[in-house]
Amino acid sequence: METILTVQHLTKKFGFLTAVKDLSFTIEKGNVYGILGPNGSGKSTTLGIILNVVNRTSGSFCWFEGNTSTHEALKKVGAIIERPNFYPYMTAVQNLKLVCKIKEVPETKIEEKLELVGLLDRKDSKFRTYSLGMKQRLAIASALLNDPEILILDEPTNGLDPQGIHQIREIIKKIAAKGTTILLASHLLDEVEKVCSHVVILRKGEKLYSGPVDGMMASHGFFELRTTAMDKLRELLEKSASFGKITQENGTLTAYLKEEMQAEELNKMLYDKGLVLSHLVKRKESLEEQFLTLTKNN
Ligand code: ADP
Ligand code: MG
Repeated sequence: METILTVQHLTKKFGFLTAVKDLSFTIEKGNVYGILGPNGSGKSTTLGIILNVVNRTSGSFCWFEGNTSTHEALKKVGAIIERPNFYPYMTAVQNLKLVCKIKEVPETKIEEKLELVGLLDRKDSKFRTYSLGMKQRLAIASALLNDPEILILDEPTNGLDPQGIHQIREIIKKIAAKGTTILLASHLLDEVEKVCSHVVILRKGEKLYSGPVDGMMASHGFFELRTTAMDKLRELLEKSASFGKITQENGTLTAYLKEEMQAEELNKMLYDKGLVLSHLVKRKESLEEQFLTLTKNN
């Protein structure tokens, strides 16, 4: 696997405040990463550091396995970390031509990128006539002009209406499907769930989890159970080493697994002990519930 970025023990202090604390993670080519955390958890600071616009306090980061200087490496990075800003009285195409000059890339890329973000039919409209969603899409087109190895987006759907949010997410998926690595910061769990393959979860600058989005959901889950003999059921489960916390509410018992167990297995075990269930459902905690559990108590 090709490593795009390695971040090691990164710390950023603003005076007494530690915005990012001993943060380590790696970004492999072809994946879509989310940095997920509530407001103020250090997402933008982290992006600022790896893009060389914020100075780190300690720790290190390294682009493309360290074979190029950060300055050279950043030429292969497309990033949108601020509100899109173009010349209001110039059209989309005119604005992108200017970007091509600055980035020293051929203007032939313009139509391809406008097509990708769904703005080809509005290419000759002035920037000031664009909606916020269109502005954001133009910024994405602009960031892609030099076919970067990785696209970095900070809260790409902030402030957009539901349709605008949907369009941006679909575009991100399309870009990812073409093989471009993506790193996006978001405080929205469902955004990360919908768009990302991997996630780094931050709380107050500290990493709580990093790994596949699927992996987060792979807690062992829990059973919801009902029977006429609830006391006996509870007794049996409390004796079993497979279960941790057991709660009871409204005639339903919830038993959390400490290890993997299928519903069939539990059903058979209870039946063999003379207990018949009237209700048996196995559930996994959603990423959302886990995220809320991880981020509360701050
Ligand atoms: P996020 O992007 O996750 O909302 P930020 O990285 O913007 O979080 O901020 C992390 C913390 O650092 C916050 O407490 C914020 O107030 C603080 N912070 C960010 N930038 C500065 C700065 N330039 N000066 C002082 N404090 C800052
Ligand atoms: Mg931010």
